[in-house]
Amino acid sequence: MQSLAQSLRAEGKSIGFVPTMGFLHDGHLSLMHAARQENDSVVASIFVNPTQFGPQEDFDRYPRDRDGDLKKCEAAGVDVLFLPEAPEMYPEGVAVFVTVEQLSDVLEGAIRPGHFRGVATVVAKLFNIVQPHRAYFGRKDYQQCAVIRAMVRGLNLAVSVVVLPTVRERDGLAMSSRNVYLGKDERSAATVLWRALQEAEGLVRAGERSAERIQQAMRRILEREQAVTVEYAVVSDAETLAPVSSVRAGTVALLAVRLGRIRLIDNHPLL
Ligand code: AMP
Repeated sequence: MQSLAQSLRAEGKSIGFVPTMGFLHDGHLSLMHAARQENDSVVASIFVNPTQFGPQEDFDRYPRDRDGDLKKCEAAGVDVLFLPEAPEMYPEGVAVFVTVEQLSDVLEGAIRPGHFRGVATVVAKLFNIVQPHRAYFGRKDYQQCAVIRAMVRGLNLAVSVVVLPTVRERDGLAMSSRNVYLGKDERSAATVLWRALQEAEGLVRAGERSAERIQQAMRRILEREQAVTVEYAVVSDAETLAPVSSVRAGTVALLAVRLGRIRLIDNHPLL
């Protein structure tokens, strides 16, 4: 992969890169379509990265569909699909990690210790292998985008990070590979995240600026669903993810809930 990337670069071709964990859906495909439009060559990767899963998390159960994914990549105009295996990505006896401090410790990072260390490490490694000019990520994983941007700045990586909007089901549920594990009742309860975010947006549109009141309103909606356990429902600064007391330009609402065995996250800009 690395020598292929080097020869593409030597030919003066731009490389657009879409890293994924597979079980592809329209959210992933939107990134591939954008990469297709903006670059000479499009590389996608599928790698269920063990270092970003906690010991009690769903690494073994993460959904996989190699054949279906291949077809979708082809149809989306992906030129190269990179499918590394864990032993080549993490050679035995080598333990090198990338840590983005602060941003990695709050919200998702507080609930999933080590998660963003795994994400930053694998993305740094993939960037070194694929050598993209541009790399495409989904806003659905808001904090992940912030961590990757910080990593790129912090390590002076020559990659433009492109962040694209969340692709949703018709009822508002953010597409996610893990949605396949939602039972019928859980699937209908799962729309509560989008309903809570829309409530927040509506309040802001009506003039509400108190972060506290918006958080309470989101939590009230989430808690109406019996099966939902709220992990956080916050209004944060869009860059630092630090809590804010009032909504201003560059404020984002971020949610995480548990629904049975599944965790769901979502977010929405507020101003
Ligand atoms: P994953 O395979 O879940 O690790 O996701 C790979 C990339 O696709 C990440 O940049 C995600 O943020 C992005 N992505 C996942 N779900 C969506 C979605 N619903 N809309 C847009 N991008 C998404």
